[in-house]
Amino acid sequence: MQITIGVSARHIHLTAEHLEILFGQGYQLQPKRQLSIPTQYLCEERLTIRGPKGSIDHVGIIGPLRERSQVEITRSDGIRLGVTPPIRLSGDLDSSAPITLVGPQGELTLEEGLIIAKRHIHMTTTDAASLGFGHKDFAMVVVPGLRSLVFDHVVVRVDDQNTHTELHIDTDEANTADLNSGDQVTLLLLNDKKIRLERLIGMFDERQLKMLETFAADIVEREKQKLQEMESLLNDLR
Ligand SMILES: [Zn+2]
Repeated sequence: MQITIGVSARHIHLTAEHLEILFGQGYQLQPKRQLSIPTQYLCEERLTIRGPKGSIDHVGIIGPLRERSQVEITRSDGIRLGVTPPIRLSGDLDSSAPITLVGPQGELTLEEGLIIAKRHIHMTTTDAASLGFGHKDFAMVVVPGLRSLVFDHVVVRVDDQNTHTELHIDTDEANTADLNSGDQVTLLLLNDKKIRLERLIGMFDERQLKMLETFAADIVEREKQKLQEMESLLNDLR
């Protein structure tokens, strides 16, 4: 199946409290444009982020406000700033890296909140059901072209809010594979569970597989019997 790429540039999510420290009391974010995830928007405001070795200006803010402030950068940004944040899913911030935010009215240091976003696919519930993927399954994606490669360990995030299925990578990953937002890549129709099952099956010879089949059939038969017993028990209770 072909899916679309969304390349995420470095960005910041803020709490209401941190917004006021950086921009002044009662400040409201000004939405600039809607992002591909319908509830999220890029704002007009920009901030500077600072680490021990350097700083990066003009970093975008993504609204709406959140419960915890979070800064997502690339590995290359980390080298520029002198920090080595962990690769995490958005929101998974415990024991992540510190970073300083500088705004027009003030600055603050997050003790944790700096991460490199783990690549992920936002998947519609319809696609998940028809392709056999579950929430938090891992997928493989094949990139064509002169910088062809396979992205493994892509986390699938199934949400009924998703309007389409889209792979999100950061600018380092996009540059490595020579990809831009809107490009198409191939989602392999296997998830990690199926791959593991196939490897497992590959370990047995024909005779062993036959034995396992009989064994599995026995289990299914026993479970069916249990189900029938429960059904008759329920009927008696009614
Ligand atoms: Zn995303």
